Amino acid sequence: MHDVVIIGGGPGGYAAALYAHNFGLSVALVEKDRVGGTCLVRGCIPAKTWLQTASVFQTVARSSEFGVASSEPVLDWSAALARKNQIVDGLVKGLSGLLKTRGIDVHNGFGRVVDGGVEVTAIDGTATILPGAATVIATGSVPRTIPGYGIDGERIVTSDHALDWDRQPDRVAVIGAGAIGAEFASMLADVGSEVFLFEALEQILPGMEPEAAKAVGRSFRKKRIKIKTGIQVGAPRFTATGVMVPVGDESVEVDVVLVAVGRAPVTEGIGLETVGIDTDRGFIPVDLDTMQTAVSNVYAVGDIVAGTAQLAHVGFAEAIAAITHIATGETAAVNYRAVPMVVYTHPEAAAVGLTEAQAIEQGFDVEVTNHGMRGVGRAIIHGETGGVVKIIAQKDGPILGATVVDPIAGEIIHELMYAVGWEALPSEAAAFIHAHPTISEGIGETLLVAAGRPLH
Ligand code: NAD
Repeated sequence: MHDVVIIGGGPGGYAAALYAHNFGLSVALVEKDRVGGTCLVRGCIPAKTWLQTASVFQTVARSSEFGVASSEPVLDWSAALARKNQIVDGLVKGLSGLLKTRGIDVHNGFGRVVDGGVEVTAIDGTATILPGAATVIATGSVPRTIPGYGIDGERIVTSDHALDWDRQPDRVAVIGAGAIGAEFASMLADVGSEVFLFEALEQILPGMEPEAAKAVGRSFRKKRIKIKTGIQVGAPRFTATGVMVPVGDESVEVDVVLVAVGRAPVTEGIGLETVGIDTDRGFIPVDLDTMQTAVSNVYAVGDIVAGTAQLAHVGFAEAIAAITHIATGETAAVNYRAVPMVVYTHPEAAAVGLTEAQAIEQGFDVEVTNHGMRGVGRAIIHGETGGVVKIIAQKDGPILGATVVDPIAGEIIHELMYAVGWEALPSEAAAFIHAHPTISEGIGETLLVAAGRPLH
């Protein structure tokens, strides 16, 4: 009998397994594939590796601006794919080793919740029961599609396939301009593919501040990405030379369509009904203080949790909350108010806390400060002055949210994470000085404006 049996070896599940070590809990982990989950195997890590290749390609392409002569960059797609695979394999191996060192009992098979534990069905079909005092469900999510767009892995694909393309597509239609769609569009356009980006809502990156969507959109248009927002695509038609995608009155022909319209939770067939756990449109409702489901010794974390962001770092934090409650009975609730989110396009768009619209909707009287990176010395040095900073504060009160667009926005957003998390007043945050010259000075300047005493 284990103290905890975990179903799923992605960020939610493996973090739960690793963190249990702090309390000396005995842990079994059930995984049907490789450990690492979506993030490590077919999500964050491989996607950011491709984006890094695109970034290096662009550095070479723009080198003459910086006084460095070079020939036109040539992308060796298979070498880039091999590097991606090497990075993923290395991290999976490292994680497997860490789980082993921590004494986690890893079972390769399909897990189902049963009363008092988890049933594991191995590849050869044999089923065994792993009894556990508590169960953590961390089964993750899979790509969704839209009617008419049956995924064939060849001409209609999801991010799962695109990360493993064995050659560069010439013409791509990306459906959905959320994080996944925008990141692929950015990467593919930066290495020279022709990209169409179709979004049903009125702006790209619909969850982000409009100023951020505009700044990223401007840079996308410079990359010649053809963006259409507020549209519905019709059913695709296969031709001898590609796929026709109807959009409004016209159709575009591409080689491949990448569907990036969200991810569905994986909660079917895992025994929830047999133990009495209901789902809400596939997601599992939990007590967000403890991550307990309707069954008190069964916990859920990660992409399957109802009402929380599908982000690896949220999965990590939810795993910590669940394990702390299992081990000690105490709560270690996630601070959902201060979750940073980064879209790794070029330039990156990063946000934390409430947007202006959300703050107003929640009844706050808001003070909004917008600032650009145009005058920031290091942004000029980088040749990247299109960035923006936006800070939302309560009138005469703390900072509620912030957004940054810049090639390194994903790194520098974290000072605003502390400001939001610690409910700092703009004047308190502005009292600290930033090193000069840095990109972070753009945030420092915005804080000074928000505090009512601008410098430059
Ligand atoms: P998403 O929900 O963020 O974006 C999907 C987009 O598709 C939305 O903008 C939606 O309006 C649009 N859409 C839906 N139906 C459409 C249609 N018929 N035609 C055109 N557009 C349509 O989902 P995603 O980008 O697929 O990502 C899935 C999840 O994974 C999200 O929760 C996302 O935050 C997360 N993720 C995060 C990162 C990151 O943080 N960098 C990266 C990848 C994925």
